Amino acid sequence: MCSTPEESLLSQYAAADRKDTHSYAEPSKAICTHLDLSLEADFEKKILHGSASYDIMHEGADEIILDVKALGISKVTVDDNEVEYSIKSNDPIKGSALHIPLQSNSKKLTIYYSTTKSAEAVQWLEAIQTADKKHPFLFTQGQAILTRTWIPCQDSPGIRISYNAEIKVPPALMAVMSASNTTTKNANGVYSFEMKQAIPPYLIALAIGDLAFGKVGARTGVYAEPSLLKKSVYEFGEMEKMLELAEDLYGPYLWDRYDVIVLPPSFPFGGMENPRLTFATPTIIAGDRSLTSLIAHELAHSWSGNLVTNATWDDFWLNEGFTVYFENRIMEALYGKEYADMLSLLGHQDLEHEVKDLGAHSHDTHLKLNLNGRNPDDGMTDIAYEKGAHFLRMIESKVGRTEFDAFLSTYFEENKFKSMSTTEFEAYLAKNLLEPKGLTMNTQEWIYGPGIPKNCPVSSSNKFDIVEKSLSTFIENGTIPEDDLTDNWTTHEWLHFIRSIDKDEDSKLFHVLDTKYSFTQSGNSEIAAAWYEKAIQNGYYTQIIKDIERFLISVGRRKFLTPLYRALKEKGDINTARNIYAKAKQNYHSVSTQTMDALLLD
Ligand SMILES: [Zn+2]
Repeated sequence: MCSTPEESLLSQYAAADRKDTHSYAEPSKAICTHLDLSLEADFEKKILHGSASYDIMHEGADEIILDVKALGISKVTVDDNEVEYSIKSNDPIKGSALHIPLQSNSKKLTIYYSTTKSAEAVQWLEAIQTADKKHPFLFTQGQAILTRTWIPCQDSPGIRISYNAEIKVPPALMAVMSASNTTTKNANGVYSFEMKQAIPPYLIALAIGDLAFGKVGARTGVYAEPSLLKKSVYEFGEMEKMLELAEDLYGPYLWDRYDVIVLPPSFPFGGMENPRLTFATPTIIAGDRSLTSLIAHELAHSWSGNLVTNATWDDFWLNEGFTVYFENRIMEALYGKEYADMLSLLGHQDLEHEVKDLGAHSHDTHLKLNLNGRNPDDGMTDIAYEKGAHFLRMIESKVGRTEFDAFLSTYFEENKFKSMSTTEFEAYLAKNLLEPKGLTMNTQEWIYGPGIPKNCPVSSSNKFDIVEKSLSTFIENGTIPEDDLTDNWTTHEWLHFIRSIDKDEDSKLFHVLDTKYSFTQSGNSEIAAAWYEKAIQNGYYTQIIKDIERFLISVGRRKFLTPLYRALKEKGDINTARNIYAKAKQNYHSVSTQTMDALLLD
């Protein structure tokens, strides 16, 4: 049997386990293969307007379907002829289906459109919300299904497109994308981009602001507002080394450059792995490089996630579990096993916490999810991240590290620039690792079962033993021991210290600890957030509520917001939570407000 490249590309989407319930696209009939994007950013009206042109591939299909949400479409052409399109369905999560009629030989379509105020991907920031407070700022966040709110597209992680873009911005501002970027401002305000490698649409990303570039290494650098540049270049000083270590582990970096942009604090995530240009929160700039495991994580996504991509959001663990595993291996190569063990132990605590929150029998604790009819954001829990990573550690412990590393290198090489479903991964694992070695293991229980399987590997850490001993001495005596061992503690040790305080502990203890270690004033966002959560749970928060409020207003990272607002709510003080949220909400991206609305306003 022979098939054309078109047929084989289209037919892969026919498999049942590749059906993406979060997209209206029907890629087995017609798909977009390349995007030419042309947009102008209007900061007065807060809209992006212009056109998206696609090269398309099909076998005589009579229509192609794209995902759209909250877009104002003015015209659609197919091979330069205006056509009658239709917009069907209107789902609060998925948005609508844009049906465009095709002829049997149609090759190109163009959609003329503008974004609206409801574009959930896009956050327009006033100058006051930026570090330098001089110019406005814009950034987009596409994952999971928000790209359709600023670009009409086949918004499924199983579909890949290359893209070129031309973005016009006001003078004094600079545009950067998940593509080839310039390092200097352009007098005419027009910036051109090229992303040659095919990527899923959720990885198309744009940021516009008063940006400057600082070089870190031959292939690495940082974009940031001018006042943050020097600090950021220092903070991410080990990026080039991380890149080399990552390549030593799992093969060549295939995206040419690896740069990071430091965004204003409203960015809802720690980082987003937009290819060639990771988008990062400024909350990881601690001044001492202590929170840069986040960069190792985003860099690892250049393999897991960006090269080999989850076919649907139900397979999200294939992106995140692999990435947490890989991140930990980079940190081990950089700082040694003791350091990496602390990270994986904190991860194990997060996993136990998440299973407790979701319920030990909840289907949401399966690695393979079923998010049909729900927001794919619901699947972004520590199950995908930490249960996924622990599953891979379990396999590593059975087959040995050398074998497992060889398996992963081949996995990335053989599946690069493709998407992967959970079923396909299971078959790949069996064929390439388990069967040749005559091994059986409880992969089904890990993937399709709830909770944490019994053979979940847990690291041990002498450093954490010392932390626990220091805390109990402290609690027994009510004072800091003479031989205070905390001088050289890393962020991980402090986090473990704070997390280990029992939530029924007397709030006097909090006062003594805070006087000694100034946790409330910590410039380290992870330590501050962990401390505030414990303090709220323990009833030591009325004294420091102004600091907690300042933190919640200035930071939009969902990972910090959810536990703090939730702790206030669980403490029976939803009024305080709502009052702070009312002041802070305008600083948050839609990804965060959706979660907080559900938590606080329902
Ligand atoms: Zn990730």
